Amino acid sequence: MAAVLICAAQAAAQKASVIQSLLDRGRYCLNNGKPDSGVIYADEALTLSLKAGDTQRLAKAMTMKGKGLFALGKNKEAVDLYFNALRLCKSPADDKQIAFIYGEIGYAYYAKGHPQEAREYYEKEVNIRRVVNGRDSIGNQLINLAIMYQSLQQYDSAESKLKAVADILTRNNDRQLRGYYCNNWGALKQVTGQRDTAKRYYTLACDIWGGLGNHAQLFKATFNLGYIAFEEKKYAEAIRYYHQSEAAAKKYGSGKDIAHLYGTMAEAYAAAGDHKSAYESLYKYASLSDSFNREDFNSYVVKLDKQFQTDKNRETIQQQQMQLTAASLEVQQQKSRALLFVLILVAVVFAGILLFGYLTFRGRVRKQVDEAKNKFFANVVHEIRTPLSMIQGPVKVLQDKVTDESMRFQLDIAERNVKRLNDLVNQMLDISKIDAAKFTLTESLGNLDHFFNELNAQFAVLCREKNIVFIHQSENVAGVALFDNDALEKIVSNLAGNAIKYTPAGGSVGIEAGTSSAGDGLVLTVRVWDTGPGIPKEEQAQIFERFYRRKEHEASGTKGMGIGLALVKDLVALMNGTIEIESEPGKGTVFTVKMQLKAAAAPSNAIAGDEGASIILLVEDDADIMRFNRALLAERGYNILCATNGVAASEILSTQLPDLVITDLMMPEKDGMTLLKEIRGNVATAHIPVIILSAKASAPAKIEGVSEGAQVYLPKPFQPEELAGLVKNQLQVLEKQREYYRERSQAQGQPVAERFAGNDPFTQKCYDTIQEHLDDAQLSVERLAELMNINRSHFQRKIKTLTGYSPSELIKTIRLEKARELLLKKEGNITETAYSTGFTSQSYFTKCYTEHFGYPPSQEGTRAVPLTAQ
Ligand code: ADP
Repeated sequence: MAAVLICAAQAAAQKASVIQSLLDRGRYCLNNGKPDSGVIYADEALTLSLKAGDTQRLAKAMTMKGKGLFALGKNKEAVDLYFNALRLCKSPADDKQIAFIYGEIGYAYYAKGHPQEAREYYEKEVNIRRVVNGRDSIGNQLINLAIMYQSLQQYDSAESKLKAVADILTRNNDRQLRGYYCNNWGALKQVTGQRDTAKRYYTLACDIWGGLGNHAQLFKATFNLGYIAFEEKKYAEAIRYYHQSEAAAKKYGSGKDIAHLYGTMAEAYAAAGDHKSAYESLYKYASLSDSFNREDFNSYVVKLDKQFQTDKNRETIQQQQMQLTAASLEVQQQKSRALLFVLILVAVVFAGILLFGYLTFRGRVRKQVDEAKNKFFANVVHEIRTPLSMIQGPVKVLQDKVTDESMRFQLDIAERNVKRLNDLVNQMLDISKIDAAKFTLTESLGNLDHFFNELNAQFAVLCREKNIVFIHQSENVAGVALFDNDALEKIVSNLAGNAIKYTPAGGSVGIEAGTSSAGDGLVLTVRVWDTGPGIPKEEQAQIFERFYRRKEHEASGTKGMGIGLALVKDLVALMNGTIEIESEPGKGTVFTVKMQLKAAAAPSNAIAGDEGASIILLVEDDADIMRFNRALLAERGYNILCATNGVAASEILSTQLPDLVITDLMMPEKDGMTLLKEIRGNVATAHIPVIILSAKASAPAKIEGVSEGAQVYLPKPFQPEELAGLVKNQLQVLEKQREYYRERSQAQGQPVAERFAGNDPFTQKCYDTIQEHLDDAQLSVERLAELMNINRSHFQRKIKTLTGYSPSELIKTIRLEKARELLLKKEGNITETAYSTGFTSQSYFTKCYTEHFGYPPSQEGTRAVPLTAQ
């Protein structure tokens, strides 16, 4: 057992010595610039110590491998190894190793340019070494700390560290340490501007390093001495030192240091005026730094630097790469989006063009088809209409002639059906006119009350026949308004006709009409309702389509063609109105139509026009139409007299003579025709133009009116402008007559009898009477009116209306003109002539004669005024 233990101990010791020798070889390689070999040795030592469970050597191997890798620029792996090694160092026996590792970490930081962190690790190293190895063992570490403080420009701290080294040196004459001490003391003094002290210490260092054969340190010391001499402009001295540096550098072989040296040397030569040597040095510098640069590319520092940054950089690079990727992804997405947008745009535009083309084409085709359809429709309707009227006429004639009851019954059936067909054709015609935009609304003045009363009376009959309750209501209907009677009738008749047609017996139908004022006009609302079958929601829009009929009505055989509501819709639209439907199957239907109508002109209180303006007598029993006409004509400056019937009109005519009479035909007590006959039969009023306004639009009524002496027969409803135009026209005719009479009477050279002959029997009779009583000085206006059988005021107005002369003016003018004629004919002297023309004194005759002709009667005949032969 003991032998086994001895054997095992021997084996372990063997292993330990193998590992140790590997470590020793590795250290040697590292110290002699062969880090790669050092790493290999360290690696082998690492594997073996791991197997052997020798943690102390394992930590050493790790530290060594780290140091090698660091030298090779693999900084991160190096630092990892340092810290892994630190973790293995747990016992106090490992403190030395810990201090060593701290030193390596400090160096790594320093080499990486982090003197602060480097200083911290060096401090840690120093603290451990001082305890483990004693205060005199830390000279090199204090030197390192002094270098760190100097790098941090903490010169006092650097000096105190160097002083601590000096203290060690007093007890321990370590030449190498002294060499470092002198070098660093010189460097510290150099940066703090104490050149002489610096030179002194560098010179001491040179001696030490020269003695020790450390060319690298000798190079540094001589180079710094040369640099100080250069700063002091002692160029020859500087060059001498630089040459010593060159010799040292060549021995330890740092191309980088030599290149730097040649560059500095060239400056010194140039400053000393030795341009040739300066050029040579520069040439050497250039060629060396070139090769160095190439070498430098792979150099330790660069690699180290690069590696040191790797960790941080990797993250940064990764982030940047991620950002870049994200950015390029974004750019790509943007590009894709833009491309997609362009593609969509192109597609939309293309589709738009196609759609536009298709719609235009379809629209054009549809328009052409519609036009052809409408044309065909209109043609067919016209073709039907003519033969229809040829049936209607003979049926009427036969109805009048046939007395046989059964034949009359047959004829009545024929007449009813012809009428139905006629209505239908007329509706179709209206639709075709609306389609061709040829349907124009003719607004005229009408009484809405009368309109609805008349229609309601017809619907009441139809409802009674079908046993349907008919309820009609007209609320606040404005009375007179401007509307297209025909169009409104078609609208209401179609709606009410449908309501009656589709509501079964026992049901109810109603018409409600009302107006409300809206701005200048009126809104007429008509509601036509029924308790009929109703219309389902989905069909409520369709029933307004042309030829649409609900299937159940089509099937039940209810008569119809499906164009009534289409016409209603078109007419309502033409009148700028609206139509709405509310309906529930089984409960009934309500159609509501709203139309904008022009209100009749607001009633005006002013019935008197200008003084001397024409007087118009209005005879009308409808208060609304009276109000409207009165306002219409008063607005145009006429004086208006109003009578609500023929009796009142006759009373007015007995005292006043209007210039024009406008009369209704159908009036209580005395109708328009009787009034017209009276007007024409009375000498005072016979000349007055009469306009008949009548709802009777039949030809016989017109013929009767005109043959009884009415100037105009205007059927109601009429257009206000038409009435105003006719009034103006009639008054202008009278005006023209007056002008003609006046002009004719003043035409010199004509016989007086011709010049004053009347345009009408009354004026003629008037002249004849004056002529007859020419020598009668008593012939006054009153006497003449008496002789004419007319009251004085009427005579006065009538003569003025017909001749433009007042009666007294007319009598005097005829007397004087006749006197002149006598004088010219020399049928008497002035005195005789004066008496024969009704003047009672010659002087008054002469005065009047001179005033009228502008010269006295004595000059008559001597003046060159020829009198044409009679
Ligand atoms: P017509 O009555 O000649 O068929 P219209 O254009 O007037 O044509 O009406 C179209 C369709 O609407 C009718 O066929 C009918 O089915 C339906 N309709 C119209 N008015 C009513 C109503 N008051 N009640 C129920 N259905 C109606």
